[in-house]
Amino acid sequence: MSTKLPKVPAVIVGMGWAGGIIASELTKAGIKVVGIERGKERTTNDYLMGHDELRFQHRTELMQDLSKETITHRNHPNMRALPMRSYGTFIVGDGVGGAGSHWNGQTYRFLPYDFEIKSLTEEKYGANKLGSEYTLQDWGITYDEIEPYYDTFEKMAGISGETVEMYGHRSNPYPTGPMVKTPTFELFEEATKKLGYHPYMLPSANLSENYTNPDGISRSACQYCAFCENFGCEYGAKADPVVTVIPVAKETGNLDLRTHSNVTRILNDGTKATGVVYVNTITGEEFEQPADVVIVTSYVFNNVRLLLNSNLGTPYNPETGEGSIGKNYCYQVSAGATTLFYEDKEFNNYAGAGALGIEIPDFAGDNFDHSDVNFIHGSGIRMTQYGNRPIAINQVPSGTSSWGSEFKKQSIKYANSTLQVKSQGASMPHKDNYLDLDPEYKDAYGMPLLRMTYDYTEQDKELVKYMSKVTRKIAEEIGADHYETTEEQAAFNVNVDTNTHNTGGVIMGVDPKTSAVNSYLQMWEAENVFVIGASAFPHNSSFNPTGTIGALSYRASEGIIKYLKDGGGSLV
Ligand SMILES: Cc1cc2nc3c(=O)[nH]c(=O)nc-3n(C[C@H](O)[C@H](O)[C@H](O)COP(=O)(O)OP(=O)(O)OC[C@H]3O[C@@H](n4cnc5c(N)ncnc54)[C@H](O)[C@@H]3O)c2cc1C
Ligand code: SF4
Repeated sequence: MSTKLPKVPAVIVGMGWAGGIIASELTKAGIKVVGIERGKERTTNDYLMGHDELRFQHRTELMQDLSKETITHRNHPNMRALPMRSYGTFIVGDGVGGAGSHWNGQTYRFLPYDFEIKSLTEEKYGANKLGSEYTLQDWGITYDEIEPYYDTFEKMAGISGETVEMYGHRSNPYPTGPMVKTPTFELFEEATKKLGYHPYMLPSANLSENYTNPDGISRSACQYCAFCENFGCEYGAKADPVVTVIPVAKETGNLDLRTHSNVTRILNDGTKATGVVYVNTITGEEFEQPADVVIVTSYVFNNVRLLLNSNLGTPYNPETGEGSIGKNYCYQVSAGATTLFYEDKEFNNYAGAGALGIEIPDFAGDNFDHSDVNFIHGSGIRMTQYGNRPIAINQVPSGTSSWGSEFKKQSIKYANSTLQVKSQGASMPHKDNYLDLDPEYKDAYGMPLLRMTYDYTEQDKELVKYMSKVTRKIAEEIGADHYETTEEQAAFNVNVDTNTHNTGGVIMGVDPKTSAVNSYLQMWEAENVFVIGASAFPHNSSFNPTGTIGALSYRASEGIIKYLKDGGGSLV
């Protein structure tokens, strides 16, 4: 039996970047908001003296507890899906700040090409460039329309970077200058310039200098401490919702933040939501929180799962192509990298920051001609310096055993003597890659787990082959004693793949038949439900997603405020 609480104008499910931005914008506009978060509250003090690799990186203290909740995965619809029982690939956030507390901070914009990918691809390469099994679509918003929201996000977070000619136009330069160019980046810069490319420093949410944002929040510059990816920042130098938007929302007095509260269902009559049901994860008590507007910001996986478990929206059917909830799940490809080994050169690989890197834009999106290749879109070709950590990073030549004295010898020998030219590639949507409910496995609260059906497509594999040649060429121009290139993309493996850049499942568009939400991320089938995050991306670009999540969150906030002021209605 749930305890019914007094109704509020807005309830937010999940307090990461998307939830934090919405909370800050709504509360500044005078709207009372309840923010419900399944994990605990944290501050920068929790990370003091916390450079503990075992605790944070390997025992994943900041991440979702997989013994309570996980996803199941299978590569093809005819396989049985099995639960992901340990972290290998995506590392899902938990607690106030979400994954925004332990992210790296590489903060890109997507390209103008991304937002109109179907139209622009067909215009240039004809309708049959990709087969009909690829469910490509435009986003229902152009780069010019989203640009002001990128600008707002970057100013709030203080993004450090330099303007790149080959990307979309910017109304303002980055609010802070680029991070330091390390000696290894100078090698990459020299080699890529010689090859005719255009290197630039990665846009970074690790502040290059002290910064005060338009909300009056002051943060200090990054110390290049190297415990960044998978760690919280004790200095507040890494933009995190906990040191940017959430304090602003709290300061208004309009945010009621409830932690240790796991939302299990969105209450609805099929066309409108009336509120949410959540369980206090400490006492087990169940509550009903009625609201005029329900804002779902619980990351790609739970955004889709909550809708499906609440019978809200039409589930995607891969047989007919109808329905949209769960459609167009995409990941990214990271094979195609070349590792450089040196016998008698040492670098300072142990210093670094999560978003410290250098990249070329020449192979991103449609910045190169695709007439003679069997894929569209491209990769960010880059060198990064996150700071090697002794347990996690042991780069050894292939053929070395993965344990024992030989492994020890080689990992010590090469600890400071390898570099890598990486490739992070886009992934296009395919009719057989989707999310639905697992018929067998449930979470700790008795709700069905999300099932992922996913493997890399032919398009993804062709892209990797091509990019592996590019990374090899750059590596050889830099020069090393020995090179290793991964030329092929292996099958997707939930235990070994590489990043938390999941997208799709509640995608945006202009047509209610092929999308779940409009360009304000308002559901077509339930006008008072807004579903915000990378779940809205109709495909995955080669760039990291959070800049675009941030921009879409600012746009959605504008829409929600208008919706509440106008007393309802479709925003488009
Ligand atoms: C190690 C790592 C490095 C990364 N580096 C980068 C990077 O450099 N650049 C980049 O762009 N992106 C990066 N990302 C991805 C980035 O962190 C995410 O894109 C971003 O944090 C997503 O924000 P979000 O608000 O949509 O979701 P989240 O941050 O996941 O927040 C969702 C919140 O909802 C809560 N929640 C979920 N379900 C429920 C429920 N049922 N009830 C209540 N609360 C719930 C969660 O606990 C969580 O706090 C990285 C991710 C990881 C893990
Ligand atoms: S590298 Fe910089 S931003 Fe990252 S945790 Fe260390 S001080 Fe913070």
